[in-house]
Amino acid sequence: MGTHHAERRLQARLAEVEARIAAQRRLVDGIVESARDANVDDEHDPEGATLAWERQQAAALAAEAETERAGLLAALERVAAGTYGVCEVCGRPIPAARLEVRPGATRCVVHAR
Ligand SMILES: [Zn+2]
Repeated sequence: MGTHHAERRLQARLAEVEARIAAQRRLVDGIVESARDANVDDEHDPEGATLAWERQQAAALAAEAETERAGLLAALERVAAGTYGVCEVCGRPIPAARLEVRPGATRCVVHAR
């Protein structure tokens, strides 16, 4: 697998993740706004509780996507440094199939957390 290919794939995944973060943030904002418009009470109004739950879910998904983005950015740095696709524990190449699924992987299957 060439470095160029890895970089292109990481960039594509990064664009995807960034779109997901933006979408989740818009969702959070929208939920906050509709809660304000409805003037609901989070604690006592069932609708407020639902909105609070939805807001939490959207925020959790955004946070998850942000973690993935950090992993992808780190992977791009490893591409630049020439260390991409090498297990950080044993130094062996990470199988291409694994990188296909998890382009931000830093460890081989044996040393995966
Ligand atoms: Zn390893």
